[in-house]
Amino acid sequence: MDLKNWLVQAAAAHDQWAEGFGPFTRHPVTQVDEGRFAAAFAELTERLAGDNPYFHPRYAGQMQKPPHPAAVAGYLATMLNNPNNHALDGGPATARMEREVVADLATMFGFDTHLGHLTSSGTIANLEALFVARETHPGRGVAYSAESHYTHPRMCHVLGMPAHQVPVDGQGRMDLTALEDLLAKAKIGTVVLTAGTTSLGAVDPIDEALSLKERYGVRIHVDAAYGGFHRLLAEPAGPWQAIARCDSVVVDPHKHGLQPYGCGAVLFADPAVGRFYLHDSPYTYFTSDELHPGEISLECSRSGAAAAALWLTLRLFPLTRDGLGEVLAASRRAALDLATRIDQCAPLTLYQWPTLDIVTYFAGTELAAIDTNSNRILHEGMAHPADPVFLSTLRVTADAMTARHPNIAADTDGGRILRSVLMKPESEYHTEQLHTRLVTLAS
Ligand SMILES: *Cc1c(COP(=O)(O)O)cnc(C)c1O
Repeated sequence: MDLKNWLVQAAAAHDQWAEGFGPFTRHPVTQVDEGRFAAAFAELTERLAGDNPYFHPRYAGQMQKPPHPAAVAGYLATMLNNPNNHALDGGPATARMEREVVADLATMFGFDTHLGHLTSSGTIANLEALFVARETHPGRGVAYSAESHYTHPRMCHVLGMPAHQVPVDGQGRMDLTALEDLLAKAKIGTVVLTAGTTSLGAVDPIDEALSLKERYGVRIHVDAAYGGFHRLLAEPAGPWQAIARCDSVVVDPHKHGLQPYGCGAVLFADPAVGRFYLHDSPYTYFTSDELHPGEISLECSRSGAAAAALWLTLRLFPLTRDGLGEVLAASRRAALDLATRIDQCAPLTLYQWPTLDIVTYFAGTELAAIDTNSNRILHEGMAHPADPVFLSTLRVTADAMTARHPNIAADTDGGRILRSVLMKPESEYHTEQLHTRLVTLAS
């Protein structure tokens, strides 16, 4: 796997195609001389040197990792022409690739029928899902768990929909008894369930919640922005299979789908929801009677290169257990291995057993001290000149802590614990080293 060679191939493929259109004169106004470029580029690389090494297993912090080199090559090859997936005229090749990858995602989730598109992020994808929910259930509110992504209350605010937070159980999953109490008394039109919470990777009991659809006439939207591709590892029954019977789902290829940022997706089970997007544009839609992506999306300009990058990636890592599933399985093994190591010896304590590949842990026996330790370990880890380690912290309430660890003294309302998202397969080879490092920092 040779990224530089692939990038050269990508640029060459573009040049070869472009030459077919014949020579033309480049305008001097955009010409930059080599020396000036080199100087400005040197400044850029100097600025970038201050970044965190998301690619390296010593980065075990947030949900960040580089795209696969194939995605980079696919993106570059396409970006050089810069198609716009708003319309078939703006990106005929990439708009069709988008349709294919969206169909692949729908198949992964088990949707028999679908309407969907790529978005620039999970946030926009969730906004679209809630927008459609507002149209199908006018005047009704949205229920989401206390551990759901902050985008849900925020987007309810944007959309003017009443927002209701539902408490979680001792593992960070939505408490369905509390949800049902709420459905019985409040005017709720949509329940948002999370398949892989951002904080803990907890998966709401989607299978058990399905019956509420008929009983209360609610829509169920699944926010699988982070966890969605874990569907490839799922047991034959359970919450992941149940997504097939929900109304909409969001997944972020720029998280576990090996893509660069700028790639989310929203899928609706009922293609008829496309009617809510209807609009007429005087500028576009000239060449084709086929549905343009822009007719079923709230965003106008969208990167055709993002669709091409995902398309190329899925040629190499299809959405199967043996394809992209292998990549997720390695991350999952890394998380289980680190969790086991933490669980087996002092001074660290596992906060809860990981459901996906997010490991949470702490050092100390009183919440105030746990908070101080987390902050110290985070900063000392990052600042170490020879052997840095990059973690993240997660604020938990005293109630959430004592629900899991009754013997921890709740001497404050809440505090920070440590969190490592092990989403790179390389982490699998690094857990012993990472654990040793964490023990040293905590001692
Ligand atoms: C990351 C995430 C989002 C937001 O997606 P962006 O792509 O960051 O906008 C929403 N929900 C969940 C569960 C997430 O993990």
